[in-house]
Amino acid sequence: MTADGTTRLSVDGKHPGGSHLHTALALAAAGVPVLPLRAGKVPFGNCRTCKDNACGGRPHMKAAGPCQCPAPCHAWAAACTDPHVITSPAWAAVWREAVGLAYHPGGAGLTVVDLDNAAAITWAREALPATRIVPTTRGEHWLYLGAMPSANAVRPGVDVKSLTQYARWLGPGTGRMAVLPAAVRALVMKEDTTPARRGVASSLPTRTPWSREVATGCRHTGAYVRTGLERGLALVRSRTESGAGSQAFGVARFLAAQHTACPGPCGLAAIGEEIVTAAVLVGVPEAYARRAVTNGLEAAVERAA
Ligand SMILES: [Zn+2]
Ligand SMILES: [Zn+2]
Ligand SMILES: [Zn+2]
Repeated sequence: MTADGTTRLSVDGKHPGGSHLHTALALAAAGVPVLPLRAGKVPFGNCRTCKDNACGGRPHMKAAGPCQCPAPCHAWAAACTDPHVITSPAWAAVWREAVGLAYHPGGAGLTVVDLDNAAAITWAREALPATRIVPTTRGEHWLYLGAMPSANAVRPGVDVKSLTQYARWLGPGTGRMAVLPAAVRALVMKEDTTPARRGVASSLPTRTPWSREVATGCRHTGAYVRTGLERGLALVRSRTESGAGSQAFGVARFLAAQHTACPGPCGLAAIGEEIVTAAVLVGVPEAYARRAVTNGLEAAVERAA
């Protein structure tokens, strides 16, 4: 921590929000985006300027907005790792009223399986691999390495909190963190196919994921393309601090280069959209992400020509 951060910390330590701020700065230094919670354990409401998203929202939300608000507005989207923002005057006022601390699991490259009750915990012990566990008021948070879309109530008493969601910080927990298993991803995939939930509260840019149907002229197997794409997306998602834009460019170029010998089409547009989404979710403004990916796709074609 900088000398500057230490000074601010000791000053803020004198008021009730001090301990949350102290923890928040430690988490931020470890790359975990944090935000304060008010009474009711929910994010603070938007300020007058940001009320009803009149500001357009933050750049990494669904609609890439121009919001430059210094206050922690827009719930999960306010979560950040910048100690200067976290200790700024606008946030200091909020820390004073904070009763809890939250983080953006997806932004830290994590997924939290939130188990609300004993029955949910029993299910998880049978269905999911052992990992780091954080006790909660009535249940447990199971933490996995890897980010994914979030969904509530994927099973009775089970929420998946990762991208575009916040989770309460209740301590580091115990146990070794396992890699996000397919069993957890499947909980949300199933959810996605339920038409009634489509488009509800999703902050992801609209996209059609890559599938064999859009790649009728590709000489690779679907599994090959999908595996390469997932690896590339993981690289982009891991850039929670900086460099996600150039990583998106590199991944787009690398993946497109695999198809220069295919008759085509290979569904490169869909692959590009998935990379854009991953970059946007780690804070790259959508227009910038789109440009980086387009340039990457074109660079591969130019090199092959
Ligand atoms: Zn605001
Ligand atoms: Zn705003
Ligand atoms: Zn191909």
